[in-house]
Amino acid sequence: MTHPMDSFFDEQNGALFKFFPGAEVRPGQRRMAEILYDAIEEGSQRRIQWLENGAGSVSPAVVQVLEAGTGVGKSLAYLLSALAGKKRPIVVSTRTKNLQQQLMDEDLPRAANILERPIKGVVVKGRGNYVCKKAWEELQQSPPDTFTIPDQKLWLKMGRWMTQTSQGDGDELGKSDDSPLWELMNARSERCTGRKCAQYESCFLTQLKQQASQADVIIVNHALLLADRQLRESDFGQVIPDAPILILDEAHELTDQITDSCAWSWSTRSMNLLISDLEEAAKHLKDPSQIPLYLPALRKAWADLQESVPSMPKVYALGDEAMDVNSLTLHLQAWQTCMDAMRHECQRLSMQKEKELGWEKLMDRIQYASQCLDQCLMSPEGWVSTLHRESKTFVRFQSNPVNVGDFFDRLLRQGFETVVLTSATLRGDSSFDHLQITLGLSRRECEASESVESPFDFQNQGLIFVPPGIPERRASATQVGEEIWLTHCQNSIERLCRASRGRAMILFTSRKMLEYFSPRLQVALPALTFFIQGQHQNRQGLLEEFRTTPQAVLLGLASFWQGVDLPGDSLVLVVVMALPFAPPDDPILQARMARLNEEDTLAGFTQLQVPLMALKLKQGMGRLIRTQKDRGVVAIMDPRILMPHEDPKGKSYARIVRASLPPFPVVREWETVETFLSSL
Ligand code: SF4
Repeated sequence: MTHPMDSFFDEQNGALFKFFPGAEVRPGQRRMAEILYDAIEEGSQRRIQWLENGAGSVSPAVVQVLEAGTGVGKSLAYLLSALAGKKRPIVVSTRTKNLQQQLMDEDLPRAANILERPIKGVVVKGRGNYVCKKAWEELQQSPPDTFTIPDQKLWLKMGRWMTQTSQGDGDELGKSDDSPLWELMNARSERCTGRKCAQYESCFLTQLKQQASQADVIIVNHALLLADRQLRESDFGQVIPDAPILILDEAHELTDQITDSCAWSWSTRSMNLLISDLEEAAKHLKDPSQIPLYLPALRKAWADLQESVPSMPKVYALGDEAMDVNSLTLHLQAWQTCMDAMRHECQRLSMQKEKELGWEKLMDRIQYASQCLDQCLMSPEGWVSTLHRESKTFVRFQSNPVNVGDFFDRLLRQGFETVVLTSATLRGDSSFDHLQITLGLSRRECEASESVESPFDFQNQGLIFVPPGIPERRASATQVGEEIWLTHCQNSIERLCRASRGRAMILFTSRKMLEYFSPRLQVALPALTFFIQGQHQNRQGLLEEFRTTPQAVLLGLASFWQGVDLPGDSLVLVVVMALPFAPPDDPILQARMARLNEEDTLAGFTQLQVPLMALKLKQGMGRLIRTQKDRGVVAIMDPRILMPHEDPKGKSYARIVRASLPPFPVVREWETVETFLSSL
């Protein structure tokens, strides 16, 4: 039976092979395109029926989940299946900038060639990346009194750049992410006055919005997409236009992203920005106001409130015994009083002065801050409140939703015809059932989820190695592990890294563990060059140095378990130090597990903790084999990955975890693994 996707993917006559004669035949890519094309068709049909039936309130969107193993070529598959119909625009949301760049530079031009028509793509970044013309104008009138050294250079470049740039994207200037100067002039939504702004028509964001409305494909990241969809609800500042098709790539991150993006959150940074915006706005007043008078009291009230959060850097649950709730409540009341006074003054000014000065927006922000802290301290049902002490001078009050399903429905389902969730890691165990718990998908949607296998020959390209005799890691006073486990790991890693001649990445589950092993490994393996997360330059620079240095070993934490793409010989060994269970004291995880445990005391562990751990493990292992030529070993320093019949320390859940992993053979003999590594 023929399928519309045959015209692209058929080996004999497909346009993919006509325009790219050397293209690999990938059955998974073809299958993925067929599944998505059918889902998009169904979404379109459902929409028509829904409109014919009077457009009731329930969203008719088709949600198609599709796990596509590494090497499937999923970007081209989803672009071609979505662009084949003439629906536009298509919104593609990713987690990483790398993937956005790849889509723009490689996949969209390829898709345009295959479709034989121009495809207009646009990357939309977060508002904070763009310069606000109004803020720039105001800064020119009254420049900041002091600059950091990088900001001095930025300030000198700004004038000329503003006359040349067509996008207003600060990345063109090479601005740093933590530039105080950029904070004063970026286009963040909380101070944008939208249509009331005199610069609205020529504003870079207004132009970007126009470009997006004419594009075939709009590429965004998950955080921006969620922020933009929330702005849409308030009908203010939305950049991404309505679209029939939403493709969520790297969708394994969605639950965490929604949990963060839909939180109530107020931090030292938010407070400092509010204070500097109040100061800036007050400078432009023609008549006297109470703002300069109120600001010192507000600063002091915040400093006192900040002090009442325990000083040890940590995420504190509200009930944490280290918290002095009385002191916190007292200082909160004092701060609220100052905020109320400031809000009334902004209200008075909003009625008297030019609206352009944004007093209403400032009022809204003050109100949000007050509500946010109230929400945090009241911790209503369905929300988890936490107080984050990040450093001596930085705290954050946060309240996260326990259940993100409602947010997924409201922000990422409603308004679309078809929503695609794809990633190389979506099956938490051997099924997609955990998506019912994490994203609130229906049972039917989970059952209709599909997976297309990687084209790699895992049976022959790699091995899983669990050192013989490795003990289970048990808690210790150092929180790293008992001496017997530490010694066993140290000896095993040394032996493995010698056999592989470096070219290894060691993935840790805690900073303490990394700090314990890194000096010891460097002393024991002087012939190898070590790159350690946090001790070198940024992540991209670290990866590049690792890739180009012979006999290198990279030691990384959570962020290196995913998004590292090192094809070829530079990486032949991945060491997983422990099964990556989320920390059991994470208050959000605890609340989610408690809900599940109400019906079955083990449900939180089996239905949530184990699938989430399996997903993370799969991501970590996925760093090893990136092409059909790559070969290597994943060594796991944790016997719980074995089944009870393989090792007495094995666990029964290992069976379902292993079913979701790439099917590498599991070996326990040193001779086998050393011979294999030496041959690479
Ligand atoms: S519309 Fe908003 S972002 Fe644009 S210049 Fe005006 S205030 Fe700045």
